[in-house]
Amino acid sequence: MPAPQEFIKYIDDKADAFIQRLSDAVAIPSVSSDASRRQDVIKMANWLSEQLQAVGVTTQLTDLGKQQIEGQELPLPPVILGKIGNDKNKKTILVYGHFDVQPAFKSDGWDTDPFTLVNDKATGRLIGRGASDDKGPVLGWVNVLQWHHENKKELPVNLRCCFEGMEESGSEGLDDLVARESKPGGWFDGVDAVCISDNYWLNTRTPALTYGLRGLSYYRVTVSGPARDLHSGVFGRTVYEPMTDLIYIMSKLVDNRGHILIPGVEDQVGIADEEEKKIYQALDYSIQDVEESAGAPIALSSDKVEVLMGRMRNPSLSLHGIEGAFSGVGAKTVIPAKVSGKFSIRLVPPQTPESVDPFVISYIEELFKGLNSKSKLEVESLHGGKPWVADHNHWNYEAAKRATWSTYNRLPDLTREGGSIPVTLTFADCLGVNVVLLPMGRGDDGAHSTNEKIDRFNFIEGTKLLGSYLYEVAV
Ligand SMILES: [Zn+2]
Repeated sequence: MPAPQEFIKYIDDKADAFIQRLSDAVAIPSVSSDASRRQDVIKMANWLSEQLQAVGVTTQLTDLGKQQIEGQELPLPPVILGKIGNDKNKKTILVYGHFDVQPAFKSDGWDTDPFTLVNDKATGRLIGRGASDDKGPVLGWVNVLQWHHENKKELPVNLRCCFEGMEESGSEGLDDLVARESKPGGWFDGVDAVCISDNYWLNTRTPALTYGLRGLSYYRVTVSGPARDLHSGVFGRTVYEPMTDLIYIMSKLVDNRGHILIPGVEDQVGIADEEEKKIYQALDYSIQDVEESAGAPIALSSDKVEVLMGRMRNPSLSLHGIEGAFSGVGAKTVIPAKVSGKFSIRLVPPQTPESVDPFVISYIEELFKGLNSKSKLEVESLHGGKPWVADHNHWNYEAAKRATWSTYNRLPDLTREGGSIPVTLTFADCLGVNVVLLPMGRGDDGAHSTNEKIDRFNFIEGTKLLGSYLYEVAV
């Protein structure tokens, strides 16, 4: 069912007050990766919990224990668990968001103070760290609840909230909490579906629903030989050089058109049929969009479907760097004694780090064997995460599509993202339910960058979208 008209009108009427609340949230510099800001993250948790209580949510601040960072022990910010309603005849929807932010300094190139929200009337932009990622969307839920609370309207669903303060720092402690609270009697017991608003439209024009995320498997290949760095004038053409072996190996991992050369890895993923290609064809995206965001005319193909599938539904391998190599200015004639090449593979279903590792490791070992080098090789898998894809025809998605239609008068782009939001998979696995990613912001919001913003339009219409979703998912 559509959201009540009074609700829609209320959101418009209260827009300035909602922006003021966003401004209050941005003013708390809740940077989770900065030890000196940890008290601000905790302050933010308390502030948000109070906002939720004020609109009728029963909350609990859940302690996650301590964290070791740069030799000091720090308290982890609490997770806010929230609850409204326990009606057996209603669906139970869990919403997730985070109240920590990426670091930001004026000296990074911000035009204004990152922790003072600027309401730029000329462009319609609300500029400040966290405006889009993820304080705007989290407060979107608060805005929705405010109308219900003030007007004594019951929510159409039972609502559960999970708002964390460590998302930008690997969601430390969250997996265990989600597993625990998903069990009978836990806060998430009985949840029928999950909605996460913590990503972006593909572009600046078309609303989106995201139904897939790639996983990751990160590797380090180390080649070592001499006991110390050597002089090329003394040892050049005299000994096996680690860097030469490493460059050979790294040059055999991926070709310059993005094809992964490690046998078996691409074969794990099925070929897209015509039906699937239509999804990519239908997306509001152009090669120009890719090249604009890359800042240069360098797209791998002029075929939009190829490019989109490269980012969303195919695995990719990227070379990241070589530790131990000479990288300074000047012309140092060193032969490095030990070098480590770093690369990673973005994974798609059915790939997992465990299923890809053996292909990668045995291939590199074979390559190295073929070199007959006297240097030593070590291949390590550093960290990884599984990919995620949801059924985008599920009632949870159908509800989000109807909500998008009623808010924006158009259907959303159905997207998969090249990156990862690991908690998505945690919810899907622990609860065994459908998860929808319902973004509020646009593709140019600059989430982890300078001058992060959310458009006033997206914040206000996005609030209506989240509210409409709760009504549409209820039936
Ligand atoms: Zn985020």
